[in-house]
Amino acid sequence: MPLLDLKNLSISRGEGERNRIIDSVSLTIDQGDIRALVGVSGAGMSLIMTAIVGIRRSGLTYSAERYRIDGTDVLKLSPAKKRKFIGKKIFIIFQDPRMNLDPAMTIRRQFREVLSLRNFHDRWYRYPGWKKRRMENLLIRVGISNYQKVLGSKPGQLTDIECRKVNIALALAYEPELLIADEPLSAMSVSSESQILSLLDSVNKNEHLTMLIGTNDLAPIANLAGSVSLLYAGQIVETGKTQAVLSSPKHPYTRRLIKSMNEMGGALDHDEMFSELGGIFPSWPELPVGCRFGPRCPIAERICLRTPPAVKLPQGHVWRCHFSKPDEE
Ligand code: SF4
Repeated sequence: MPLLDLKNLSISRGEGERNRIIDSVSLTIDQGDIRALVGVSGAGMSLIMTAIVGIRRSGLTYSAERYRIDGTDVLKLSPAKKRKFIGKKIFIIFQDPRMNLDPAMTIRRQFREVLSLRNFHDRWYRYPGWKKRRMENLLIRVGISNYQKVLGSKPGQLTDIECRKVNIALALAYEPELLIADEPLSAMSVSSESQILSLLDSVNKNEHLTMLIGTNDLAPIANLAGSVSLLYAGQIVETGKTQAVLSSPKHPYTRRLIKSMNEMGGALDHDEMFSELGGIFPSWPELPVGCRFGPRCPIAERICLRTPPAVKLPQGHVWRCHFSKPDEE
């Protein structure tokens, strides 16, 4: 049973297919897996991730055919129960790492608040000073050695990378079942990027924390994520085990992305990558009908104005295109 099971999430800014900013997106994440959600800025990653934690933006309507966390049907819960349930199971780190943190409070106070939310039954937690020891321990675990200084600081006094590490430590203190991180590598130097990647890797392996990571660059995360879903203009075009998708991409968008990744050695620039195909990345209110990659797709035909069917291989490798078959290699 997957930890997260989301089927046909749609987010619309009006009636009809063209107003569906997120169009029938399905996502499953197995316990202990890391799933990368890959798409260019504007593809809809943040909308999907915030919808999963129950954040609704005004002017948009949300619908889903199925939304289960750890087997519980979230759609059947009352709004209050839903908030409580999701809040207990999922911790989200926003793209701007300071958004998770209260600018007026020291990191120490924010840790105390998070630790107070958990009901620890272990005798160890009844000892005086356990909160202090726990927060110091967590900060050391995420690679913050000057933890005394960090604990006494407010978010504005910390660097971006310190804030990201603090967020990961807070997530560990919170003990969620699913960690969602929206572009955790954005605007980072290569060395900071590798620090955060190895931190996420060790948290996943040692704490068995399941993760959904949104990124606009598949290359740095390819070795970390066990599975991947590629998003184009609000539609998932291909999904599967990362190695299967990388070694045998099926959808024309994914093929182009992987080809560029290989040719450019990971230095991915989406505008450059798709420039020879012409056209622009579509966004609302100019969303194409049917397959949204159609206006840029080199093999598109009239039928592509209709929503393409899902083509499936074993092991959950699925893509949507009118011109492919399951046995096509
Ligand atoms: S459905 Fe049509 S437009 Fe979309 S990727 Fe396949 S061939 Fe291209």
